[in-house]
Amino acid sequence: MPAPQNFLQYCDDNALNFVKRLANGVHIKSVSGDPTLRNDVFKMTDFLEGELQGVGCTVTRKPLGEQIIDGKPSGLYLPDVLFASIGNDSTKKTILIYGHYDVQPAAKEDGWKTDDPFVLDYNAQNPGELIGRGSTDDKGPVIGWINVLEAHKKLNLPLPVNLKFCFEGMEESGSEGLDDLIKNEATSGTFFRNVDAVCITDSYWLNTRTPVLTYGLRGIIYYNLTISGLAFDLHSGAFGGMVHEPLTDLFAIMSNLVAPDGTILIPGVNELVPAPTPDEIKLYEDMDYSMQDFKNSVGDESAGDMSVNAVTQNTVSLLLKRMRFPSLSLHGIIGASSGVESKTVIPAEVTGKFSLRLVQDQTPANVDPLVQDYVCKLHKSLNTGNTYRLTNVGDGLPWLEDYHHWNYEAAEKATIAIYNKKPDYNREGGSIPIALTFSDQIGKNVLLLPMGRGDDGEHSVNEKIDFANYIGGTKLFGAYLYEIADLASK
Ligand SMILES: [Zn+2]
Repeated sequence: MPAPQNFLQYCDDNALNFVKRLANGVHIKSVSGDPTLRNDVFKMTDFLEGELQGVGCTVTRKPLGEQIIDGKPSGLYLPDVLFASIGNDSTKKTILIYGHYDVQPAAKEDGWKTDDPFVLDYNAQNPGELIGRGSTDDKGPVIGWINVLEAHKKLNLPLPVNLKFCFEGMEESGSEGLDDLIKNEATSGTFFRNVDAVCITDSYWLNTRTPVLTYGLRGIIYYNLTISGLAFDLHSGAFGGMVHEPLTDLFAIMSNLVAPDGTILIPGVNELVPAPTPDEIKLYEDMDYSMQDFKNSVGDESAGDMSVNAVTQNTVSLLLKRMRFPSLSLHGIIGASSGVESKTVIPAEVTGKFSLRLVQDQTPANVDPLVQDYVCKLHKSLNTGNTYRLTNVGDGLPWLEDYHHWNYEAAEKATIAIYNKKPDYNREGGSIPIALTFSDQIGKNVLLLPMGRGDDGEHSVNEKIDFANYIGGTKLFGAYLYEIADLASK
């Protein structure tokens, strides 16, 4: 059964009220990374708790305790995770929804074209873009769910499924405490009991036209490579040519990790990845993506169809590189001169930063020995007196979901019903660790169902969500629940 007409109509009739609710949410400066705004994050917890209760949810606040900063208790408390539920009918499916209510920092001086990043800016007569911090990441989607529940309450419509919500307030600051909470709850709590599938609403379309369903994310392994040997910094006039310089050694090693065209040069790393099947290649060929989309997303202003930045002009290969293959990026050097002055120092110790994005069947555990081994060989070949230290400073597994599942089927049907378009099946190049946590801990299918577009500018200035996506997304979320119920009844 598709979503009932009166639900869709309610969304249109109340669209401006939905926008006002979003404006109320955006107005709270819930910046989790700024300790001076921690009270505002808690205000957002209160706001959301009130909204959820107002539309019929039972809400439990899950405290996460004191925040640890630099290994010490900071006196700051982590914002509560909200566990909310509505419906308890054993004949219906139970869907767990995840979103976050904290945001990235924002200041007018960063270059916002509106007066205040925390005042949702839009034209009430003809709403196009709704501009404000958190509009798309992730207050729009979170409040979209409240809108869905409000419509059902006001129309006296029974929900087609039971719903549970997990809304956190530290996502933009590494989701501190969330993993442990979810693990504890999954092993000894009751909240996740009976959950049949998970839906994460915190991602974006690939472009501005075509909705996507996301079923995979790359993992990561991040390294610091430190080269040292000199007792202290030296002067190049006095010692240049006499010593093995740590920075020269570092350049020699780092320039052999990856080729300028992006090819990873570490033996064995690429070999861990199975070649795409013809089925998969077809998915990438079907994706709505053009060279112009690529150019828009990297700020390439070159005229014509070709991009000067791309390593290939073939969009299928570009998409494969983003979603299906690993990559290695060099990020920076600690300890080297970075000012404008012409410093003639020979730094005694430097640290290069690089990371690999991982895909199946790579894991940090099977990639790390290959990287360690290769860097050791490169270092040996330098015949240098300097020593090196290669440290894994953080990693995460890639995540891949089975998209031939009713959870995805329902989302596809809902997308066609609301947007009149088949969604693209997408894997993201970045990492959202919560997807993997839910997969592992709850053991149910996980879907990423985005609301916003690829040009929304989450994390940057002038973050926006389009009115069409905010209202369309609210309808989509509702329609998705009806399609789940429909598939379950067959
Ligand atoms: Zn987000």
